[in-house]
Amino acid sequence: MSTILVIEDETDIADLVALHLQRDGFTPLLAHDGVTGLALAKTACPALILLDLMLPGMDGVRVFRELRRDPRTLRTPVIMLTARAQTADRVAGLELGADDYVTKPFSPKELLLRIKSVLKRNEAHDPREILTAGPFRFDSAALQCYADNAPLDLTITEYKLLQYLCEHGDQACDRTQLLRSVWGYSDAAHSRTLDTHVKRLRVKLGPHAERLETSRGTGYLLRTGPP
Ligand code: CA
Repeated sequence: MSTILVIEDETDIADLVALHLQRDGFTPLLAHDGVTGLALAKTACPALILLDLMLPGMDGVRVFRELRRDPRTLRTPVIMLTARAQTADRVAGLELGADDYVTKPFSPKELLLRIKSVLKRNEAHDPREILTAGPFRFDSAALQCYADNAPLDLTITEYKLLQYLCEHGDQACDRTQLLRSVWGYSDAAHSRTLDTHVKRLRVKLGPHAERLETSRGTGYLLRTGPP
């Protein structure tokens, strides 16, 4: 069952939409202002977001920009809700890259059709490649790695190194192989670069640092099993 986040300050509209979502088998989640909506979007990871443009505090355009900036919500489809008169807002919303928009007043039936069509489109074209290994998950489109679902603050090189080790989980990767695959170096003359990056990566892995083992005489390996 898909969760749909509704960010709408007019409670009667939000409640009506929630009712129809529920009838159609969706799980509605309501937020009545932008800040709350944004926080819920990041924690609940909804399948789709209905975003009203006119919101108290943080308006819909700003919420949308923040959604697109965060790897957790970067690809979540958004349908904007706009008042008929706000042509400028509607244009702005679509220019920002919203998946669709619905003008108020709308029929809940029409809205549901739009939601289903956007979800279907999104499913068919989801370009995300997700690799998981042990506690790590890689979102290759966003170049973001998560450990236990918390984003890791890695540089591109650290990301590539960790991803390579995870792709070859529990296997010793030799130094030449690592330098060639991650840095594109053809000889082992840059061995210290590798060691420096591994050292920094271990610090960033925190409680998972011990998984990145030194394989004597070979290089490194990453343990993916339970700790
Ligand atoms: Ca509003």
